[in-house]
Amino acid sequence: MHTDLVAALDIGGTKIAGALVDGHGRIQARTQRATPARQDGETVMQAVEQVLGDLAASPLWGRASVLGIGSAGPVDTSAGTVSPVNVPGWRGFPLVERVRAATGGLPVELIGDGVAITAAEHWQGAARGHDNALCMVVSTGVGGGLVLGGRLHPGPTGNAGHIGHISVDLDGEPCPCGARGCVEGLASGPNIARRALADGWLPGPDGDTSAAAVADAARRGDPVAVASFERAAQALAAGIAATATLVEIDIAVIGGGVGKAGDVLFAPLRKALADYATLSFVQRLTVVPAQMGTDAGLVGAAAAALALRPDTTAAGV
Ligand SMILES: [Zn+2]
Repeated sequence: MHTDLVAALDIGGTKIAGALVDGHGRIQARTQRATPARQDGETVMQAVEQVLGDLAASPLWGRASVLGIGSAGPVDTSAGTVSPVNVPGWRGFPLVERVRAATGGLPVELIGDGVAITAAEHWQGAARGHDNALCMVVSTGVGGGLVLGGRLHPGPTGNAGHIGHISVDLDGEPCPCGARGCVEGLASGPNIARRALADGWLPGPDGDTSAAAVADAARRGDPVAVASFERAAQALAAGIAATATLVEIDIAVIGGGVGKAGDVLFAPLRKALADYATLSFVQRLTVVPAQMGTDAGLVGAAAAALALRPDTTAAGV
């Protein structure tokens, strides 16, 4: 029997996706369940087991020899546990052990969702071929991960690169994480929308107050909407420049819903980056949109699992 596939789980606050992925990052089978996020931990685990059951029913299942999990965080990969902010029933939940048991003992690799997306972009997306990269997800929150020296750098607990919670405004607003002036508080979608509304932006007749609606308004030249995106871009640029200065990344990849805003975000971002990334060794830094779509979490989890296999050739992940 060939064992040329890897199983992957992408666990978030709204859905639990599962897939069988080949050595080129292509999804050969997939399934998905809603996350019963407000229910107790065992009920959430049952949904995971249903996803695993769907995968195990595939005729391809026997070709999978390892399983990767990308989970909403925080995660603790050293302990094999997860405590997703949006899944209160799971606090220090022993996900690795439970998934291993549910699959009859497959080797399991756990990474956080920001690290998973980084693995996917490095393997098959915008960071391909870059040995030193920061990949970010800018949506409801702001997460990220690092590739250093050609390898994924999850850190001891799997949370390295969590750029959303570095402070870029020393006396800024308190952040739910306990710090102040975090990148997330200035650059996440809800915060872009919140700031625009507070500064007098009026939504259209449809009443849409999402960051995407602010982006539409900015595209039409609404000065308040433009200013809110410029402020978000400034925060992202400061975080990216700090990262580049610390570890010499040469590319920053931005995905997530806000990352889809296009020039409304990227034009002021590149301008602000020139203001903050000033030393000679960071001036070559480029910032680009993510290339991986909604499957990035699954593909990244697969990349992490592939790295477990002794015969792996997955792009140095
Ligand atoms: Zn924070």
